[in-house]
Amino acid sequence: MKHFFKKLAGMFSYDIGIDLGTANTLVYIKNQGIVLREPSVVAMKGDKVKAVGEDAKRMLGRTPGSMVAIRPLKDGVIADFEVAQIMMRHFIKKACQRRSLRGPRVLIAHPSGITEVERRAIEDSAYEAGAVRVQLIDEPMAAAIGCGLRVTEPIGNMIVDIGGGTTEVAIVALSGIVYSQSENCGGDALDDTITQYMLSSHNLLVGPRTAEEIKIRIGSAHPLQQELQMEVKGRDRSTGLPKTVEVRSEEIREALQPKLEVIVNAVRKTLDHCPPELASDLYDAGIMVAGGGALLRGIADLLHEQTGLPITIADDPLSAVAEGTGRYLQENDDVFDD
Ligand code: ADP
Ligand code: MG
Repeated sequence: MKHFFKKLAGMFSYDIGIDLGTANTLVYIKNQGIVLREPSVVAMKGDKVKAVGEDAKRMLGRTPGSMVAIRPLKDGVIADFEVAQIMMRHFIKKACQRRSLRGPRVLIAHPSGITEVERRAIEDSAYEAGAVRVQLIDEPMAAAIGCGLRVTEPIGNMIVDIGGGTTEVAIVALSGIVYSQSENCGGDALDDTITQYMLSSHNLLVGPRTAEEIKIRIGSAHPLQQELQMEVKGRDRSTGLPKTVEVRSEEIREALQPKLEVIVNAVRKTLDHCPPELASDLYDAGIMVAGGGALLRGIADLLHEQTGLPITIADDPLSAVAEGTGRYLQENDDVFDD
């Protein structure tokens, strides 16, 4: 009987998983898959929302006068509660498109380093955004599940998630997080470093979108078999005029070095905290790397060189967390039970 009512309730409700990332938000609808992926950006003019997601990101760095593009989750926590709420409501609505009278039950992946107050803030935002039930899941756990690691077994697994605002490193075993470490250093920090480098070495002013493009097109963490180069357009700092310079992958790699070291150190520190019984598992299974930063050229080589462990890059690093929330919903019927 209880089963029947549960099923009935299920017909009027539906479950979704949300990867609330600092750079990108993804929504997974149970039994359907990922239905939305958009930048975690909101464009505001005064207190009016002008655009959310992809449209808002296009405005980043080139917003006219009174318009500001806000990233409500900048450092892995909700920096701007109200804007985060607006953003989540927009994405939930867009993903679900009036699929039922009731709002969805929502499983949200959140950074592992957040405080109780921040957890509450995320939950409240989701309820405000129309959710009827809300559960949270640690982001590294979701990432590990999404990467296909066997997290329920008594085996140590290490996951490194290099996102926009943060890098999360965790050891998971028996469905729990044994140790985790969160560093406010991810893709954004790499972009900022490139912006500074272009200014100091080429006297060139470039916006955040250009910096990210440089990173994606020629950025690397380890020497490449074939080094790359590209033309970068910006504004000359002295003359204020448009200027184009040729940039090589070697120089960008060198500029990125200090930030990559922060990421490597977070991994090392986590390894140091690994209980001895699990350490041997890690030596066999190695480290799984997810998040957009996993796509940086040579990141696996760098991590292997610095830890000696086998490194695996997730099949689809940008989707791992959302996939993980989806798989978790798919495999556990009692996620929203009290
Ligand atoms: P978050 O979980 O914080 O939202 P994501 O996992 O979505 O972050 O990753 C976003 C970050 O990944 C951004 O900093 C972006 O620049 C970076 N990124 C995306 N593709 C690449 C790539 N090919 N090479 C290097 N960095 C990348
Ligand atoms: Mg993420």
